[in-house]
Amino acid sequence: MTTVTRTLSGVRIDNGTPEPQSPAPHELVDPATGAAWATVVYGGEAEARRALDSAARVLPAWAALPAGRRAAALRAIAADLREDGLTARLAGLITRETGKRIAEARAEVGLSAAFFEWFADAVSGRAERAWSHVPGLRHEVGERALGVVAVLTPWNFPVSIPARKIAPALAAGCPVLFKPSEVAPASALCLAEVVERHVPSGVVSTVVGEPAAISDVWLADRRVRGLTFTGSTRVGRLLAAAVAPRFTRSVFELGGNAPFVVLEDADLDLAVETLMVAKYRNNGQSCIAANQVWAPRRSADELAARFSRASDRLVLGDPADEATTLGPLALPTDPARVESLVDSAGGDVWRAATPVPEAGNFTRPAVSVRPLRDSELVREEIFGPAVSVLEYDALDEVLEAVAAGPYGLGGYVVGAPRRAAEVARALDVGIVGVNTGSPNTPQVPFAGLKDSGTGVEGSHLGLEAFLAPQTVAVADG
Ligand code: NAD
Repeated sequence: MTTVTRTLSGVRIDNGTPEPQSPAPHELVDPATGAAWATVVYGGEAEARRALDSAARVLPAWAALPAGRRAAALRAIAADLREDGLTARLAGLITRETGKRIAEARAEVGLSAAFFEWFADAVSGRAERAWSHVPGLRHEVGERALGVVAVLTPWNFPVSIPARKIAPALAAGCPVLFKPSEVAPASALCLAEVVERHVPSGVVSTVVGEPAAISDVWLADRRVRGLTFTGSTRVGRLLAAAVAPRFTRSVFELGGNAPFVVLEDADLDLAVETLMVAKYRNNGQSCIAANQVWAPRRSADELAARFSRASDRLVLGDPADEATTLGPLALPTDPARVESLVDSAGGDVWRAATPVPEAGNFTRPAVSVRPLRDSELVREEIFGPAVSVLEYDALDEVLEAVAAGPYGLGGYVVGAPRRAAEVARALDVGIVGVNTGSPNTPQVPFAGLKDSGTGVEGSHLGLEAFLAPQTVAVADG
């Protein structure tokens, strides 16, 4: 089934779209229908080099601008993103290329605007400090732009994750080399176009193409002083090895396997409501999606039954339709992957009876109760609408299992607030929702532990990732 309607250039350099030198077009396929709806012309090594040369050329001028001028550019980008027509255009592209429900796609664009606003505020609020620690010497501690940074992003939040990286990089004075995911480049290219309206030529360049061909050029070059990557742990490891010889300052936001802990005193209806949000956001394809649900032995079956009933009411279908509550998975291979994770885990399996559209990458919600603790379903990121429900007798068992697992990104606790917050503080993860399925905002740190990565996004720390401190010791007289 092919109904391609448009061709996109995958290259944006010097605030324009030069002719790429590798013009073989790549199809973008709508996950809800299986139909190709656009083609993208990839860039390659030559475009990656040209983008890098432009970024290096513009660095001194961009970094030297007063912070307030850069903040003003960020605010103008945010204002554009919040404009109704643009929000609708970007949200439509996100839904088309990833299968995200349209309401969530609009929220993603709003969140992206909020990142630009927050980092405009954050950079406006910084000031240099000067101290004297030694008689006769005055220490001036300044901050400089780190330099040119490479921004590599995944398909699952194709606008807000780039926004979370590009906004602080620009605020800090760093030109950006942007490589969006080849799975969902259209909305990212549209974001790049909006950003370019408000920054000088060369400050942001975008190249979509074979990933390694582009990143190899950037990461091998000493002019690239920073890497900020969000994606799988597997690719994160490859890139960490690639930058190791040059000690390139890096942020890695990688995979997760979020525990969802239901306490003895939890209201099970609240637990189900919270789990519906934490599990089904982006059709289950979020790095902080609840994966392992831990419930006290006496309430595990009841919780699983209530969650199954709620999941049975989900309406699978076209993500552009406001009535749809569960969309397709992004890739055609995903339904079989998720189903096999569930089937091979050895638990008591429940699957929703809800009708599944014939075309597209759909799979029914599934709950596996008491699967094998060492199954892939329990140990690995699911990235789809399935969960495992595990029973516990003592909370320490849960805390130890989470600490011993490879990931440490998101987590959730449901129960009486004071006790639940205490348990949250003991969970070995970077961000925890207590009686909420939505713990994240631009003002707070988002950071994984262990195989979930290193470095911080969001908050003032997200800006500092792109700043290099410099101490100047000035002798009196
Ligand atoms: P991915 O690792 O396949 O791709 C991410 C990016 O890396 C893409 O731009 C891709 O083109 C690029 N890439 C792939 N292979 C490469 C290579 N050999 N060399 C250089 N670049 C390469 O991830 P994905 O499937 O796009 O995204 C899903 C993953 O991202 C999940 O594991 C999810 O948990 C993770 N994620 C993490 C966070 C977080 O904040 N921690 C947020 C969202 C997604």
